[in-house]
Amino acid sequence: MVRETGYYDLLGVNPKSSADEIKKAYRKLALKYHPDKNPSEGERFKLISQAYEVLSDVKKRDLYDQGGEQAIKEGGVGGGSSPMDIFNMFFGGGGRMQRERRGKNVVHQLSVTLEEVYNGATRKLGLQKNIICEKCEGYGGKKGAMEKCSNCKGRGVQIKVQQIGPGMIQQIQSMCSDCQGQGERFSAKDRCKTCNGHKVERKKKILEVHIDKGMKDGQKITFHGEGDQEPGLEPGDVIIVLDQKEHSLFQRQEDNLTMKMSIKLVESLCGFKKVVETLDNRSLIISSLPGEVIKHNDIKCVQSEGMPIYKDPCDRGQLIIRFQVEFPEKDWLPEHLMFQLERLLPPREDLMVTEDMEEVDLCEVDVDSQQSRSHSREAYEEDDEGPRGGVQCQTQ
Ligand SMILES: [Zn+2]
Ligand SMILES: [Zn+2]
Repeated sequence: MVRETGYYDLLGVNPKSSADEIKKAYRKLALKYHPDKNPSEGERFKLISQAYEVLSDVKKRDLYDQGGEQAIKEGGVGGGSSPMDIFNMFFGGGGRMQRERRGKNVVHQLSVTLEEVYNGATRKLGLQKNIICEKCEGYGGKKGAMEKCSNCKGRGVQIKVQQIGPGMIQQIQSMCSDCQGQGERFSAKDRCKTCNGHKVERKKKILEVHIDKGMKDGQKITFHGEGDQEPGLEPGDVIIVLDQKEHSLFQRQEDNLTMKMSIKLVESLCGFKKVVETLDNRSLIISSLPGEVIKHNDIKCVQSEGMPIYKDPCDRGQLIIRFQVEFPEKDWLPEHLMFQLERLLPPREDLMVTEDMEEVDLCEVDVDSQQSRSHSREAYEEDDEGPRGGVQCQTQ
């Protein structure tokens, strides 16, 4: 039994969601609320990461389902990792060691259609990124013209003295804002005019993303060294994460495609021919021979009409079709013709009605009234006397 659903609500899933659904929900939200894209949503990003840390771990999820957030806190199993660590682990970003020598990785989600992962496609993606200023080669100004920062006297830190009470002062140390903690800076005249002394410029870069046949939802395409440039650091990677949109007809299940096909009762009994348009615009004729009989919810497949296999696109999965048989509406056939139909159908089994049998009415099920009846039954059972005795009387 699940007591609390706060973590599930945060990820927009429900307590019955599979690990895969939770993973997918986190992926979407983490990218949306990542501080790089949404600086004002830092708190949200933290909460989403916490929720994912718990729900992605079978043991922690169990604990949460049983005792809620309280149990996670008491068990000391939550909040161990920082939101960024969870994010980097999920998207395969660099570890801590790597991060010191390299710039950070940038993760982008790219929405793709099922047609694009079926046929393969090239998409152009425009990204804003920092590149080292060409004019000053990342130096920030005239070479050799760096001078000691007058604000911090070369220490790189500022010390603020605050009076916090009578005779009590507090010293607060912070990074010097004039030289960004460098201790040195360029005077206005020596500063690079192109980058204004920032050493980097913001530029638009177009990345060509090759979507190969058979790529999957959530698959990553890495552009090594295409992250932000920064002097003295090896740039990080740009990681593109594919997000496959739902298709109106086909659902993908690994390398197979599944679809529903509605057929009429006459088609289920007497055979049919139907056309399916494939994702590369071919028309497949799906047929059933007269007398084959396709039942409601029958599943059939067409070999090699599923998704192309990634890196081996000549090979393809199956197209799996689940048939839905449409029965005719009430009173579709005048009563006097029924016996003709019956003559053609497999014979029924006759019932011998005996005296000890009871005739009852068959009615439509009203879901609402059934629920309210079960509620009132609960109310009866809480009451120890009266009604329960009454029920016993009835059965005697
Ligand atoms: Zn410059
Ligand atoms: Zn300074």
